[in-house]
Amino acid sequence: MTDCLIIGAGPYGLSLAAHLSALNVDFRIAGTPMGAWVSTMPDGMCLKSEGFASSLFEPSGTFTLGAFCASEGIPYAHTGVPVQKATFVAYGQAFQRQFVPSLEARTAVLVTRQGNGFTTRFADGGSITSRRVVSAVGVERYAQVPAPLQALPAALCSHSSQHSSFAEFAGQAVVVIGGGSSAMDAAAALRRQGARVTVVARRSTVRFQTPLGQRSLRDKIRAPMTVLGPGWKSVLCTRAPLLFHYMPDEFRTKVVTRYLGPAPAWFVRDQVEGHIPIITDTTVVAAEAKDGGTQLTLRTHDGATSTLVADHVVCATGFKIAMDRTPFLDRELVAAIAHVDGAPKLSRNFETTVRGLHVIGPAAANSFGPMLRFAAGAGFASRRLSRHIASAQASRPRRRHAPVSAEARVVDA
Ligand SMILES: Cc1cc2nc3c(=O)[nH]c(=O)nc-3n(C[C@H](O)[C@H](O)[C@H](O)COP(=O)(O)OP(=O)(O)OC[C@H]3O[C@@H](n4cnc5c(N)ncnc54)[C@H](O)[C@@H]3O)c2cc1C
Repeated sequence: MTDCLIIGAGPYGLSLAAHLSALNVDFRIAGTPMGAWVSTMPDGMCLKSEGFASSLFEPSGTFTLGAFCASEGIPYAHTGVPVQKATFVAYGQAFQRQFVPSLEARTAVLVTRQGNGFTTRFADGGSITSRRVVSAVGVERYAQVPAPLQALPAALCSHSSQHSSFAEFAGQAVVVIGGGSSAMDAAAALRRQGARVTVVARRSTVRFQTPLGQRSLRDKIRAPMTVLGPGWKSVLCTRAPLLFHYMPDEFRTKVVTRYLGPAPAWFVRDQVEGHIPIITDTTVVAAEAKDGGTQLTLRTHDGATSTLVADHVVCATGFKIAMDRTPFLDRELVAAIAHVDGAPKLSRNFETTVRGLHVIGPAAANSFGPMLRFAAGAGFASRRLSRHIASAQASRPRRRHAPVSAEARVVDA
């Protein structure tokens, strides 16, 4: 039995693995390196986070995105130079090769409780037993589609996270639902691929971020820079995630939902404004398949209705963490995980109410604050959880291992 299995190889899973490795913890990690970034984000997009806030974490703190870009000759600045998705993916994969070479590229399909630990089964037929499981699977499984669109067939309606290239929509009329960052990234990617795009947004305006530009001393005092952007609230969120953890559930849920709204990045503005019609103040109230496409019924906030016809609808309507939608968690485990508004209630060591089952990444934001929604939160999570796991392993009485049977070797393939 291994001590710890990490499921997921994005910024959080890889950073935790790098820390556990340095502490000589017996662990295994499964997932596709930077898999979500490769296949669920538009090709050609740039990160909204600044360069200095887009690193993964290993104990020495030297293999940063900046160091990687310098070694590869890729243009980089701490702020002001948007980071290409392709650069971030290449950096994450280089991080994996250097610090987490033991990564197993396999997909977990079922985690069940087994005595004092867990058995995790994989799509390839193998399984791993472990004392702990750390779920670091990001948000992909928690995609939200508005109710009126849920009955449309997959050929007519999809979630933005189901695409990376959008090439299949060349020449088609596509409606993007949403007014946030994902919506503008998807709309820009669709336009690059030659689709005829219309955006439908609930808000009265799409509020793009403004570029930071040169910051005076006064700016720096009034709104100090953090990995979440400038401002004293962000200072609190990044410096005091454990203080956030002490706050009442209702306060934490409200802050995580409202803080750092969906503002699209400043550099997407030119690709969208003046090129793509944006229908604001409007929601989709009904949708039906018609003549090989989709007919949407729209309603403005003052009650006027209209119809809009498209070949396909892309819902860039975000994600909502809901532990009961985690596909690989056995129902008995899901039932035992206490949650608040769908997100797991976590201890100060990222442990759910199921002993030995931990959750890191955006699903931990309700417990530790908005920083955990971003790659930048992986430093705090991996330092804290790796120390906890290492000290628990060190305090366990050592037992001699029984010889592994031939059957066990096959199962643990
Ligand atoms: C459109 C969009 C733009 C974003 N832009 C930014 C940004 O600019 N900056 C920023 O910091 N954050 C951004 N984020 C937030 C992003 O979620 C985090 O940065 C970060 O990727 C979260 O890391 P993670 O390791 O928790 O999950 P992910 O990066 O989502 O990685 C999940 C990992 O889990 C693996 N996995 C999933 N299911 C299984 C399974 N069953 N078995 C095995 N492995 C599995 C995947 O293969 C992948 O390796 C953005 C998110 C979205 C959706």
